[in-house]
Amino acid sequence: MINNPNMTTEPLSAPPAFHLLAKPSGATCNIDCTYCFFLSKEALYPNEKSRMSEATLETYIRQLLESHRTQEVTVAWQGGEPTLMKLDFFKRAVELVETYRRPEQIVQHSSRNIISSSA
Ligand code: SF4
Repeated sequence: MINNPNMTTEPLSAPPAFHLLAKPSGATCNIDCTYCFFLSKEALYPNEKSRMSEATLETYIRQLLESHRTQEVTVAWQGGEPTLMKLDFFKRAVELVETYRRPEQIVQHSSRNIISSSA
């Protein structure tokens, strides 16, 4: 990433903020709602390779925070069921936010479902 404050990789038309839902566990979900259109997608990604790696997590958090020009940033997780990533994944996400957020940034974490949160 470019560290020179006079240089930017953002196009001039880039919005100052945006909302992005990351799916760290892909379509995998252990809730099994009868109406779910996602569960059949799990067959397309049948193993752990569809899980967000730590390297991707770090790149995602860093770029998400860098690309916001607003004070408030939301780190939002969706699935499938994102908590299948387990507690250590989310602890690491919080650590990375503290590493990369600018001092004035206020970062909110949100997640959908949160039924399976056992470590
Ligand atoms: S919680 Fe969502 S992803 Fe999981 S089975 Fe229900 S509708 Fe599908």
